[in-house]
Amino acid sequence: MNNSQRKSWTWKYEGFHIPVMVHEVLFYLDPQKDGIYVDCTVGTGGHSLAIMERTAGKVKLIGIDWDEEALKIASERLRKFRDKTILVRASFVEIKKVLESLGITEVNGFLYDLGISSLQLNDPKRGFSFKEDNPLDMRMDIRKDITAAQLVNKLSLRELESIFRTFGEERWAARMAKFIVEERKKQPISTTKQLVITLKRAVPAKFRKGSRIHFATRVFQALRIAVNQELENIRLGIPAAIDLLKKGGRICVISYHSLEDRIVKRIFKEVEGKELILITPKVVKPSSEEIQNNPRSRSAKLRVAEKI
Ligand code: SAH
Repeated sequence: MNNSQRKSWTWKYEGFHIPVMVHEVLFYLDPQKDGIYVDCTVGTGGHSLAIMERTAGKVKLIGIDWDEEALKIASERLRKFRDKTILVRASFVEIKKVLESLGITEVNGFLYDLGISSLQLNDPKRGFSFKEDNPLDMRMDIRKDITAAQLVNKLSLRELESIFRTFGEERWAARMAKFIVEERKKQPISTTKQLVITLKRAVPAKFRKGSRIHFATRVFQALRIAVNQELENIRLGIPAAIDLLKKGGRICVISYHSLEDRIVKRIFKEVEGKELILITPKVVKPSSEEIQNNPRSRSAKLRVAEKI
């Protein structure tokens, strides 16, 4: 694929979340006429639209997402393929229940594009970004009860430290937890800015300045993972999908950090040779052109397996 082909593709997504590794996903998923494909993280519909366009709407597509706003946009963008698309608001952990309720027992292909979308990240009221001052929320599914503010204000020092360490791989986890516990004795931490200021105090200036990434990045990632139970969902959701795959059907998973990728790799490895063969023994990464056009894709890793 050359650069101008890639540009013409990304151009179509201006204003929306740009789907990552679209060509690679289409290549590996290889959607076939009359097949049933499930996009478990439909988001604003980028990959789903690509699947429908590639197959001229000749497949049945189930799109799942637990974010209501994302689904509204996806439904609008997929309206041309309305007859062939079903969008469901659910967690992909409930994949068996969702498909059962639609009378589907076997699937030709699954796609997971993990993490959050640009829609969520860029919406100030959702509290995913530390660039502005907003309520500390971070729920992808706003029906859920627990927000990031609740975790930050209620968890013990040890629990906070452990979340920052395991989900953020944050070297200052202990100090950050300690500073948060001190701060919340004075006042609850309810906004992104309050949290950023507290974290800033915990990290010595010379480390803040010398670091490649912003000092709050890892803690924000860690809280997001904890609020949405993201790793747990992958652990439960992907094996359930593998059960539902038809022989010869494929499962494609794009992850964005090593914690996610490690889990996906392990799940595939556990059933390799018994239920699956690995189509991508080595992970697939975006081309340098794609990373240039869409920097958000830089950490993406695609793994694909096929049911035997
Ligand atoms: N491929 C999409 C973007 C997906 S971004 C596109 O091209 O537009 C990831 C999406 O996964 C987000 O919309 C998020 O709400 C959703 N998501 C994350 N975890 C989920 C879960 N457990 N169940 C359902 N949706 C989930």
